[in-house]
Amino acid sequence: MKRSNSEKLYEKALNYFPGGVNSPVRAFKAVEGAPLFIKKGKGPYIWDEDENQFIDFCCSFGPHILGHNYPDVHQNIVDNLANGTSFGAPTRLENDLAEIIISRNPYIDKIRFVSSGTEAVMSGIRLARGYTGRNKILKFEGCYHGHVDSLLVNAGSGLVTTGLSSSAGVPENVVADTIVIPLNDVEALETAFATYAHELACVIIEPIPANNGLLLQERSFLLKLREICTAHNVLLFFDEVISGFRVAFSGAAEYYDIAPDIVSYGKIIGGGLPVGAYGAKNHIMKSVSPDGPVYQAGTLSGNPVAMSAGIAQLTVCSRPGFYEDQEQRTQTMVNSINSHAKEKGYNFALVTIGSIFWIAFSDKTTIRSASQIDTDMTPFKKLHKALLERNVYVGPSGYEVGFISYVHTKEILENAAQQFKNALDEVF
Ligand code: PLP
Repeated sequence: MKRSNSEKLYEKALNYFPGGVNSPVRAFKAVEGAPLFIKKGKGPYIWDEDENQFIDFCCSFGPHILGHNYPDVHQNIVDNLANGTSFGAPTRLENDLAEIIISRNPYIDKIRFVSSGTEAVMSGIRLARGYTGRNKILKFEGCYHGHVDSLLVNAGSGLVTTGLSSSAGVPENVVADTIVIPLNDVEALETAFATYAHELACVIIEPIPANNGLLLQERSFLLKLREICTAHNVLLFFDEVISGFRVAFSGAAEYYDIAPDIVSYGKIIGGGLPVGAYGAKNHIMKSVSPDGPVYQAGTLSGNPVAMSAGIAQLTVCSRPGFYEDQEQRTQTMVNSINSHAKEKGYNFALVTIGSIFWIAFSDKTTIRSASQIDTDMTPFKKLHKALLERNVYVGPSGYEVGFISYVHTKEILENAAQQFKNALDEVF
């Protein structure tokens, strides 16, 4: 595979950006060669600067649930762009996107748009603290909630791929109020509540933990969280930046039928442009400025161009059968690859939920906590190379998940499954 143009661009980028990238998960730290510089995307495909074409399973790490440049999204962006890009005043488009989200979501009465998932979580944490008047927060090992200072402890892919458990530059007193426990561990949860319940503002979790592999939780564990939070007046915060609009329209909350108190969204709601949001019921949201004392603001919040992308994207996602169809196509591909691995006796399985999958070098599909992951990334590195050579693109870390879009058709996924099988045969 020719990579010379990407290599030249990478060399230049190294002069401008730390590691040559603007987000560490884009660096090819854990895999071979220079990062591919992407020139364009259309549907399920991306093309790099050397004109190599790939089936894309990264999908910008989640936003592109309709694939790249989906016609309705593209057109709505172009139409609204003609009216200007930002006004520092409300627009009709903010109402329209909020209506699409809230009218189908029983968990929130009000929402606030921000510009990234990180901002959504950071603001939601402030709201939890402001509403409860308590400072401590409880998070889980391996769950990533953006690069919010107080949550950058045992926070998954970006850190573990670069060999860190927490970030330099975060003062100890900032994380002193963050309690971290393992996922799927009721005993640790009960112990933490026995010690800290009266000081806890919220428990924050990715209800579908997808940033340190795909650590699927049993519904009973999420229910336990709901019960213990309710019993102690602690808010349950679902960070649905990945799972929101991905596994069901109203995210993991709908998928598992468990109501959070605060929820954060990102990725899919922006249709590929920068949008995040947090929401809750009225009694909590009325604490947010200007109605209440919890301050939060943003020059580009609710940006009209970004809103127009989100409106078009979520309109397609709200079609009947959308999520069932996504899940079915994903499952067919995953089953085909997993059967092959099993037949051949490979220590490998794709773990899946909805239209998310994770490449696990284990034959177990029930890995529920970060400590169960095999940290030897050598097999992933080999597989990544073998997949690229077969024109299949997945994110450059074995801790990241893959995403399937509306336009990854049955035929494209059959081809991808065959490429995966051939790549596995080369690796094992
Ligand atoms: N929360 C979760 C669960 C995420 O996966 C991410 C990003 O991957 C974030 C928060 C942060 O979102 P952003 O990268 O848009 O700041």
